[in-house]
Amino acid sequence: MIATVSFLPSYDAPLEQHKEYLRRCVPLMVKHNIPPDPINYAIWYEYVAGRNAQLMQELDALVRAKAPFDAATSLKLYKTYICHASVESFEKINAQLQRLVDQAAQAVSLTSERAAAAGDHLAERSQTLAAAAQQVGLQTILSEIIQETKQLAKTSEVLKTRLDETHKEMAQLRDELAQVREIAKIDALTGLLNRRAFDQALKAFVANPAAQKGCLVLLDLDHFKRINDTHGHLVGDKVLRYFSTLLQKYVAAHHHAARYGGEELAIIMPGTSLNEALTITEQIRSVMETSRLKHNGSLDALGKVTVSSGIAVRQSGDTSESLIDRADAALYRAKASGRNRIAVQEEP
Ligand code: GH3
Ligand code: MG
Ligand code: MG
Repeated sequence: MIATVSFLPSYDAPLEQHKEYLRRCVPLMVKHNIPPDPINYAIWYEYVAGRNAQLMQELDALVRAKAPFDAATSLKLYKTYICHASVESFEKINAQLQRLVDQAAQAVSLTSERAAAAGDHLAERSQTLAAAAQQVGLQTILSEIIQETKQLAKTSEVLKTRLDETHKEMAQLRDELAQVREIAKIDALTGLLNRRAFDQALKAFVANPAAQKGCLVLLDLDHFKRINDTHGHLVGDKVLRYFSTLLQKYVAAHHHAARYGGEELAIIMPGTSLNEALTITEQIRSVMETSRLKHNGSLDALGKVTVSSGIAVRQSGDTSESLIDRADAALYRAKASGRNRIAVQEEP
């Protein structure tokens, strides 16, 4: 059996142990002023559990250096030491699958060699048997044949067990691969598709001649820099996450909601008319405008946070670039004409 690589964290400690980690984790995170989001908790959980020496060293070094524990740092630690969903993971899985296939092939070829050898022996014996028919050696020859047959059956049994094991390991690796593939599409901060997955989905959308209609919407938070400047980057992150939940809530199941870049989100809407796209985008705009976001759960409201959007309707002959260009131009007009509004591409 080969050891499988663990790509996703697994937490199989008993409940009491988890509680103990929680009791030790929280004061540490408070002491170092670490925001207790799930990613940071995972990092400090590993730390108190003491099961990840390299991560512990790096955290100790960061604390000693009084380095800021910002979102980028925590994501980097998480990706490096906890969730290994990366290109290297794919390569490791590939290498393991290759090894398993090689092992299975070896086992098959060994068994077929043995079967061929046993076949040769049986042929020899049958010749001897023909020559020695009716003679005293018959008993010996028969017992040799039985022996050979038993040996062959045993070899086949070994092969079957090995193939079963290999099959199980391959299924496990396939599951891991599917999980890693899914994770690799997701933006860690917002939970939406990341830019790479967006590019792929948009390419598929424009390449599909069957999808006659459809829209691309670009949505950008207004004056977001001010929120960061006034309330800090972490509050900015929260606003961005809230904005993303609105997309998740209002888009249709077959739409692709993505983080296009920074505080700019996008929705690919295959098969959706301009009117439907306008309705969804307007829902997001108006809920964003009327939401009263609070700072750290206090009554200290952040004030109104608004969003501007640009919509492009898919035309025949569109490429990803031409569609983005039109949505972007519409977004620019929405910003230029006062923000907190939706603009649709100009008629050609
Ligand atoms: P406009 O209304 O013209 O869009 O103004 P804006 O301030 O939103 O636009 P600008 O492009 O000047 O600034 C975007 C800001 O978004 C700057 C950048 O620091 C911030 N930003 C980008 N990504 C993130 C993120 O992941 N988290 C936080 N908190 N801020 C981000
Ligand atoms: Mg903006
Ligand atoms: Mg922007």
